[in-house]
Amino acid sequence: MDKKIFLCSICNINSGTCNEDCKFCSQSVRYRADIERFKQKPIDKIVQEAIVARDSGALGFCLVTSDKGLSDKTLEFVCSIAKVLSKETPELRLIACNGTATLEQLLVLKDAGIKAYNHNLETSRAFYPHICTTHSWDERYETCKNVKEAGLVLISGGIFGLGESMEDRISMLESLRDLQPMSVPINFYHHNEALELKPNPLSIDESLELIKLTREMIPEAQRIMVAGGRELMFKERVGEIFSYGANSIVVGNYLTTSGCAISKDLEMLKSLNLQVATSV
Ligand code: SF4
Repeated sequence: MDKKIFLCSICNINSGTCNEDCKFCSQSVRYRADIERFKQKPIDKIVQEAIVARDSGALGFCLVTSDKGLSDKTLEFVCSIAKVLSKETPELRLIACNGTATLEQLLVLKDAGIKAYNHNLETSRAFYPHICTTHSWDERYETCKNVKEAGLVLISGGIFGLGESMEDRISMLESLRDLQPMSVPINFYHHNEALELKPNPLSIDESLELIKLTREMIPEAQRIMVAGGRELMFKERVGEIFSYGANSIVVGNYLTTSGCAISKDLEMLKSLNLQVATSV
């Protein structure tokens, strides 16, 4: 296969402190999931994680916070990290993923060295009230538009396997196509027993077809990234995602669950004759 695969690493700089009620999310305090919770990860730990990501071949490093949006304090924290990482690991493209954001807040992040912003639509507008009642899909869409207006790179995708219909999936992909994100992260719901949602009903074949559908419906996206739930969903068939249109993966750990060792992913890519991309 003659294509380059982009690797991205995510770093939960605060975790499990969110008051929203997204039914798929173990970081909501409402469900009392058994996860690590902390307000601010120490900066030296974040730098260490960024160095490991860079040395493993990741091009993107995403600073994720767990609340609904950016408070003044969070904005200050993310900016302070971005400034340090811009010096320590200048090779990494810094991405922020901090929920709802205004144009003004996004411009502040940009000034601090953030290059891209990740905000997922998660699902269709019609299905969204079934998975979240504390904020609206429209608010999410608005933040994505703000990202573009701020001149940041937009990364936006969603989650499959929440109980949505095929119509909902198509509707979400149409909305994403309208937003024209550079990269479309697709996640596969990873069930946690503390959550009230039913486990992900998708089969491996159905999930591969959804990657293909995403690629076909958003042809202008530079990247289709398979993010959360990759190992659990595809197991030993994980290498097939690349022939269905994925050209990017999240490596290392996810926000509240462990991923596989980065070395294992690198071996997998090598065995498929896929090269790791070395520049954005
Ligand atoms: S807003 Fe984000 S962190 Fe909070 S519950 Fe929803 S998905 Fe989880």
